[in-house]
Amino acid sequence: MTTPRKRARSPSQVLGPDACPRCGTTMKEARGVLRLPVNGEEVAVAHATHQRCPKCKEVVLRLEDARRLGEDAIALYRKKHGLLAAAEIRAVRERFDLTQGDLAKLLHLGQNTVSRWEAGRNVQTAAMDVLLRLLRDVPGSLEYLRRHAA
Ligand SMILES: [Zn+2]
Repeated sequence: MTTPRKRARSPSQVLGPDACPRCGTTMKEARGVLRLPVNGEEVAVAHATHQRCPKCKEVVLRLEDARRLGEDAIALYRKKHGLLAAAEIRAVRERFDLTQGDLAKLLHLGQNTVSRWEAGRNVQTAAMDVLLRLLRDVPGSLEYLRRHAA
């Protein structure tokens, strides 16, 4: 039994940097509503910059656009649920002269969690939001947390 000869494959299509990954048409910069899940909840971000294929409507995000979309979605989620914004979390931390690592330790969190909150790459839970507000608003909270720090 002879093995069938492999059929020569046509060279794969070389796509330009702005080509649609689905159909090869040059994509165009667009702004519009894109949806992104945050904590299992879909958040609609208006005016999100992206690349859209005029032919097949495929949407592609550049790295920078994806980062921005994620930050905007988290900011909207925080606003909707009445959670502290990234800048407010930073303000609480700086008021007590804590590093991101210090605050993470006080709240028994992973080392990079506070940095992700402040960069808008992650959102604090409602329970953590209450703890941050306690720290900000109730005198003596920092000392209390220090006594119970990890
Ligand atoms: Zn396309």
